[in-house]
Amino acid sequence: MFKKWSGIIVIAACFLIAAGCGNSSTKGSSGSSKNGKLHVVTTFYPMYEFTKQIVKDKGDVDMLIPSSVEPHDWEPTPKDIAGIQNADLFVYNSEYMETWVPSAEKSMGSDHAKFVKASKGIDLLEGSDEEEEEHDHGGHDHSHSMDPHVWLSPVLAQKEVKTITAQIVKQDPKNKAYYEKNSKEYIAKLQDLDKLYRTTLNKAAKKELITQHAAFSYLAKEYGLKQVAIAGLSPEEEPSPAKLAELKTFAKKHDVKIIYFEEVASPKVADTLAGEIGAKTEVLNTLEGLSQKERDKGIGYIDIMEKNLDALKDSLLVK
Ligand SMILES: [Zn+2]
Repeated sequence: MFKKWSGIIVIAACFLIAAGCGNSSTKGSSGSSKNGKLHVVTTFYPMYEFTKQIVKDKGDVDMLIPSSVEPHDWEPTPKDIAGIQNADLFVYNSEYMETWVPSAEKSMGSDHAKFVKASKGIDLLEGSDEEEEEHDHGGHDHSHSMDPHVWLSPVLAQKEVKTITAQIVKQDPKNKAYYEKNSKEYIAKLQDLDKLYRTTLNKAAKKELITQHAAFSYLAKEYGLKQVAIAGLSPEEEPSPAKLAELKTFAKKHDVKIIYFEEVASPKVADTLAGEIGAKTEVLNTLEGLSQKERDKGIGYIDIMEKNLDALKDSLLVK
């Protein structure tokens, strides 16, 4: 770990020398890096969509983490670090999701993109999982002690959009009215989504759901549901036999008919559990990666969240 970061620091330092001090005026409050447009680098899909919905064509918005990669386990290359450094803004969710962000920021010195933590000001839930202690994350020194999955609550998603909007406006004030109008329109859609969830789940006959990884705590909390997860906060964690036995008891007790898994992670454990209790499996998308195929079709956050609600209806609204 130390070796890797010291390499990044050397590369970042070279960058600073090559860029020279004179160039720093191209960044800053004018918000113009290249071709006079605002340039924003974002980490994974919801950070990209929330930012893109505000910026639209007034700037370039890039997504750093490829859709096919589980963002819990992704780490930047020196090239990625340089890309972040040269942007105007860098939007990420939280240091409990993109765990590499604090050291990346430290490695950059003082001249770099403005870092925007989208979850700023949101009270994070603690990672309730006692297994966190037992499992090391395959050698990574990741910290998942707090739950980062706030974007899966349509209410907290609005907060993230507001936080991102404020920073974009600060960075590029000449387009303030444009960004604020886009932001307002998008937040109105998120409010509709929240209403749809609330009215639908009010009618739920059951409140318990079993998911592959513990990504839906904020959503569950918002709508009075109870999530029990097979793995912890990171989808790659394997459950212990004791945990599986506990899940089986829980599933029987609450007559759980569907085990939810997600598209990026392997459904193997969900399949095994479903097989053992005679349940079906269904997708509940964490939006941690949205396939290029879906993005090409213009499918985004709100469509996926509506699909998630349909999937939830299948188990929660059936007696
Ligand atoms: Zn996750």
